[in-house]
Amino acid sequence: MKEFKAESKRLMELMINSIYTNKEIFLREIISNASDAIDKLHYESLTNKKMKVNKKDFAIVVTIDKDNRTLTISDNGIGMTKEELEKNLGTIAKSGSFDFKNENKKKENIDIIGQFGVGFYSAFMVASKVEVISKAYGSDEAYTWSSSGIDGYEIKKSSKENYGTDIILTIKDEEEYNRYLEDFEIKSLIKKYSDYITYPIKMEEDSKLETINSLVPLWRRNKNEISEEEYNTFYSDKFFDYEKPLSHLHIKAEGLVEFNSLIYIPSHASYDYYSKEYEKGLQLYSNGVLIMEKCADLLPDYFSFAKGVVDSSDLSLNISREMLQQNRVLKTIANNIEKHLKSELLNMQKNNREDYLKFWESFGLQIKAGISNNFGMDKDKLEDLLMFYSSKEDKMVTLDEYMANNKDEKDIYYACGSSISQIKSLPQVETLMAKEKDILLCDNYLDEFALKTINKYQDKEFKNVCSDNIEVESEEEKEELKNLNEKSKDLLQLMKEAIDVKEVKFTSRLTNHPVCLSTVGNISVEMEKVMNSMPINNEVNAEKVLEINYHHPLVKKLEELYQNDQEQLKKYSKVLYAEARLIEGLPIENPTEITDLISEILVK
Ligand code: ADP
Repeated sequence: MKEFKAESKRLMELMINSIYTNKEIFLREIISNASDAIDKLHYESLTNKKMKVNKKDFAIVVTIDKDNRTLTISDNGIGMTKEELEKNLGTIAKSGSFDFKNENKKKENIDIIGQFGVGFYSAFMVASKVEVISKAYGSDEAYTWSSSGIDGYEIKKSSKENYGTDIILTIKDEEEYNRYLEDFEIKSLIKKYSDYITYPIKMEEDSKLETINSLVPLWRRNKNEISEEEYNTFYSDKFFDYEKPLSHLHIKAEGLVEFNSLIYIPSHASYDYYSKEYEKGLQLYSNGVLIMEKCADLLPDYFSFAKGVVDSSDLSLNISREMLQQNRVLKTIANNIEKHLKSELLNMQKNNREDYLKFWESFGLQIKAGISNNFGMDKDKLEDLLMFYSSKEDKMVTLDEYMANNKDEKDIYYACGSSISQIKSLPQVETLMAKEKDILLCDNYLDEFALKTINKYQDKEFKNVCSDNIEVESEEEKEELKNLNEKSKDLLQLMKEAIDVKEVKFTSRLTNHPVCLSTVGNISVEMEKVMNSMPINNEVNAEKVLEINYHHPLVKKLEELYQNDQEQLKKYSKVLYAEARLIEGLPIENPTEITDLISEILVK
């Protein structure tokens, strides 16, 4: 009996005692080694004409023996000599990938097992004993390496007819491991993790050997050989979505970094998409072998809806998670994918508006959040993906379309509220619409945050029509208004004192309606509502201005009251302010007082 090298021993310990739930990846690891061994022989046979191996014979065979509780994985690859068995299985080959300085951080190690696998030793997560019978190509002798764990290993001479390697796992005799002796289970593990290994993986079915894997991954095939249906079936099989995706991208990148990728844009958000549970990411393969189920670093948050796979031969199978995060290859791939996704979305927006609107309905919120997140760092990348409801067009438009439709306007107008019809009925909006102005109607709480982050689009400023910085009056009107406000200064001051606003003033922008509420400063009424609905925020108050339509007969009445009954004027102020709040969808803090006042006035 020989002892393992210290490092191997520690890794072995970790495997045997692993509480990691995803132990099934052992099969992926062993099959991947088998595939590598065949690759090596294949390669040698290409360079050495004397060797007589037939590419067609290459195969990996998986056999279950329930009675003896064994699972055997056989390959006809290059095999190992006695020395190689000793060297390869007695020590860890890939010391770099596994940082033993961190061995106390058990949790991290478990993560590494799950995401990257640690090769051959992972067999000890499910097996109480592992035997490796191997015959190197060209040799007459076969040897068996065996180990029952931490104590060490033995190498003995044995016999084997053909070159290659048999790995015999004696599955641990505990209930939770029984699944690894079930045909169905092993087949589905092969499908799940090793489907695209380029050699056939065979299992016995009705006393015949059947190939379980599909051998060539879809993403490696030529685009023009793949039907729309194949793309869609792959999507639904792989990502369990019964609805067709809106679009797929098949990227074959060559050059500095080589990779194949198949990315889908779903047609709807999954039920958990906007919850904390949702995990973004793409499946990551290294040369056809799955190394990570959801590689988050491949997608920016604002494109977290994308599903897909990435396969690169420039990534090593044994790269650790921390290394992966700073990996240059991965970054290059991620940038490339982001660019493709963005241009596919723009393409859809231009050429297939119906689909784009579906996309927008499902994932627009994520894009808007992406604009305001990170202090607006990504806004330039995302702004042309935005869609808003145009009051003039009566449909969703892009910012570019709005610009094209309103070339002569100085600013970009928008208004916020809870629904398109509610916003349309805001007095300020109604007036501007009557003047044929085009207003972007924002009925989502993130809209205004996004617009405020963008601030300017092609040199035009976004202006909330309910803030008082909108100038649509003629010069005469302005002059008239100024005079009126000046003349009625004391009246307006008295009204202001009766209510809690920044200012009360006359306005000419309300055609028929008596009053409206506008704001000054950075916080609009909609923002006040949103911010106050969040549990952590302190009370936020927009600086409100009560505007009174100076064409309205009410003005006369107010002037009259100012002369004769200032107490009554205060009551009128309260009612008018309540009206303005009501229109904006703001709560009325003293409803009983207000309704009493209204009744009192009605009775008069
Ligand atoms: P890795 O595959 O990352 O190198 P492993 O611990 O999985 O690490 O395997 C160690 C070594 O053992 C491999 O590099 C390979 O040389 C050898 N090996 C494992 N399985 C086989 C096999 N089926 N045929 C030939 N050699 C193998």
